[in-house]
Amino acid sequence: MATIKPIEGRSIHQIQSGQVIVDLCSVVKELVENSLDAHATSIDVRFKNHGLDSIEVQDNGEGINPDNYETVALKHYTSKLSSYEDLSSLQTFGFRGEALSSLCALSSFHVRTAQEKDGSKGTRLDFETSGKLRATSVIASQKGTTVAVEDIFRNLPVRRKELEKNVKREYGKVLNLLHAYACISTGVRFIVSNQMIKNKKVTVFSTKMNSTTKENIANIYGAKTLPALIPLDLTLELEPSNAPIQGARSWRMQSDTDSREVQVVGHISRPVFGEGRQTPDRQMFFVNSRPCALPQVTKAFNEVYKSFNVSQSPFIFANLELDTNAYDVNVSPDKRTILLHDQTTLLENIKTSLTRLFESHDQSVPLSQL
Ligand code: ADP
Ligand code: MG
Repeated sequence: MATIKPIEGRSIHQIQSGQVIVDLCSVVKELVENSLDAHATSIDVRFKNHGLDSIEVQDNGEGINPDNYETVALKHYTSKLSSYEDLSSLQTFGFRGEALSSLCALSSFHVRTAQEKDGSKGTRLDFETSGKLRATSVIASQKGTTVAVEDIFRNLPVRRKELEKNVKREYGKVLNLLHAYACISTGVRFIVSNQMIKNKKVTVFSTKMNSTTKENIANIYGAKTLPALIPLDLTLELEPSNAPIQGARSWRMQSDTDSREVQVVGHISRPVFGEGRQTPDRQMFFVNSRPCALPQVTKAFNEVYKSFNVSQSPFIFANLELDTNAYDVNVSPDKRTILLHDQTTLLENIKTSLTRLFESHDQSVPLSQL
């Protein structure tokens, strides 16, 4: 019988990194979230060969403090969270300190960063695959950070092959994800480009530094999208007495300051034939402005919409604003899956309020008067 022995440190790092960075979407998501956490107002995402050759995310955020150069790509080093208790009041996207360390293990990776507002000098950081800082060099750089990821999954041949085979589909998913971040991020300019081998760089989409999500939607999907949309502004009271279903558990209360109210704000297609589209990928859900996958909530929205317009899917941009105690982001390494406490009550409330919204919307008003 084989003896039980520990896995080599390097292999553990590679195995675990492959769970944080699972595909192109996770690379882009982690880098864009880091830029937003650094309070960037401009984020430039550059793909080469749809991301197969390289992905660079450049921001004009705070930059990395030289004191953190040594630890920035070490596993579980983060400037954002120091204890498990902090998780419930989390204001940043990042908190695991795993993204940069994982990217070191899975790609050719480097960082360029500068903190000075007016200076034009910055630092390039190169790392070992373990995340240990290997070298620094002085470069010309504006304030902000650029993270460059080349040859993603170069040392995971099966995953690399899979990505090469499906790169168009993966890239499509990446663009949908970027649409979501660009839509929700008011006051941030996004520019996304791709360059194919021997071709010129092509801008895929961009947003201006808009102050409303509506303007962001117009920049991304075209101004013609707007007349078909109605504002989504649902207030859901999740008190036990209002719970529409029998036996519903009470909304979880942690303290007196916990809110039992959930706001669902955003935009949705009018439930009129011709207003919806056949593109369910134009459906974005957020929890406190964090893009996430909410399959049950998505299903509830679509069910209600279908009861008004059988043949089409709505455009949905819905941000659920709720108390940070009312959900858990620490479910999956990519943080896309969010556990909502008392989801059943929430879903019933969403369905009731959404039905009321669609019913109250005067469908006889001509488009031009909206
Ligand atoms: P996390 O986001 O969970 O802290 P990461 O591995 O994504 O972990 O990043 C590690 C640290 O590197 C962050 O805590 C932050 O201090 C720094 N960092 C990463 N990206 C940026 C960026 N674009 N601008 C400024 N600091 C950054
Ligand atoms: Mg991060």
